[in-house]
Amino acid sequence: MPGLSKSTFLMGRQCSKLLWFRYNAKDQIPAPDEAKQAVFDQGTEVGELAQQLFPGGMVVALGIINPQEVIAQTQAAISKRVPLYEAAFSHHGGYARADILVPVAGDAWDLVEVKSTTSLKEDVHLPDIAFQTFVLTGAGIKLRKCFLAHINNEFVRQGPVDPQKFFTLEDVTEPVSAMTGDIPDQIEAMQHVIGAKAQPDVQIGPHCDSPYTCALHDRCWSFLPEASVFTLYRGGQKGFSLLQRGIQKLADIPADEPLTDIQAIQRDVLLAGHPHIDRPALAAFLSQLEYPVSFLDFETIGTAIPLFNGVRPYQQVPFQYSLHIVRKAGAEPEHHSFLAESTADPRPEFMRHLRGSLPATGSVVTYNASFETSRLDECCELLPEYQPWLKKLKPRIVDLLLPFRGFRYYHPDQHGSASMKAVLPALGGGGYEHLTIQEGGAASREFLRVTYGKVPEAERQQVRQDLEAYCGLDTLGMVQIVDKLNRLIA
Ligand code: SF4
Repeated sequence: MPGLSKSTFLMGRQCSKLLWFRYNAKDQIPAPDEAKQAVFDQGTEVGELAQQLFPGGMVVALGIINPQEVIAQTQAAISKRVPLYEAAFSHHGGYARADILVPVAGDAWDLVEVKSTTSLKEDVHLPDIAFQTFVLTGAGIKLRKCFLAHINNEFVRQGPVDPQKFFTLEDVTEPVSAMTGDIPDQIEAMQHVIGAKAQPDVQIGPHCDSPYTCALHDRCWSFLPEASVFTLYRGGQKGFSLLQRGIQKLADIPADEPLTDIQAIQRDVLLAGHPHIDRPALAAFLSQLEYPVSFLDFETIGTAIPLFNGVRPYQQVPFQYSLHIVRKAGAEPEHHSFLAESTADPRPEFMRHLRGSLPATGSVVTYNASFETSRLDECCELLPEYQPWLKKLKPRIVDLLLPFRGFRYYHPDQHGSASMKAVLPALGGGGYEHLTIQEGGAASREFLRVTYGKVPEAERQQVRQDLEAYCGLDTLGMVQIVDKLNRLIA
């Protein structure tokens, strides 16, 4: 019977069907996409930093993945009584590599599991550590305590990152020991699933996205129609309860079903076959816009280990903006942009450039304004000389998301989403399919890659052009949306 690693054990806890595929049809599980891979890579970086919490240790079986060989090298390393990174053990069909093992009094050890989250996630981290504890103690390791090392959410970088300040060590010995008793039964049940000839019959449910979005999500959910009950705006568990009653399509939701006003709009536009347009509300929204109207959008990077002084873990640091200015009604929009060039903290130049480009009067339109205003607030913490400017700017900011989040306009093609990428094509504007970079996460990853990695100059320049094209379309898209709304109410 194959050994369960801690990651496959956690998979099995989430869904037995996923576990079965992992061992019986692995080729049908899609490889992690770039976004997930970037999360894994960050986790690796954080893990390496955590090793410095317990210096003077050794990485066990560096670069070796054959479990038997890693276990053998672990046995040889244990006698050295130094911190061990990535030591491996097996017991009762379980196989675990411990992030850090620290020798303590006598012949005992402390187990330290490293996570790149900023808090303890009890439903994931505790079973993970309980599984390791079961395997390690079964393999003969005397454990004194178990710790979770997660990122300290109050950490602010000042100079080189001090791992003692960057991490918070939480003693989880007690809650973990309360869980270890069940682990052998869980392992046996999972091995039974793995050994079955056919995949288990598991229906879709909230577990498909909890604690992680399942890699088989697209496959298992593919039977649903595009306008399914799961596109209900803020539907929560309602989609599952409707599905249980055999209702898959939004349009099939009975008229007497209790829905929010917005959800009722969703169903009604499908039945009517045309969009919902609240003209008085849209007119009131558009009447607040004052020329020159500036359309503004930021792109940001937010790494687990902050790159710059004064930055917290995962704090979003702006590195790019696009600005389209429409000076008067009917005028062609004029474009301004900024894209950080060097590896230095982009914020001083970003703020200087933005203040120089934004008109001193008129409305400033953003999509989901709290994101841009939060970034500006954070920039002003670093650069307080911009406070008076920001104080005058804030009352001019108009959030173009609001009429869509309130479903003042709603087209069935939005499928329950008020995001700009859903709204723009639904209103007849262009989509993002023709662009190399099509979403903010990719923009962030690509900027990090070409700015801080070793990339040929020609490729770097190409990516910078792609970034300009992506961010530029976000603001041009807002110009188009306002234009379309104006036509709708005319
Ligand atoms: S999508 Fe849901 S039902 Fe399908 S394997 Fe994943 S968790 Fe299980």
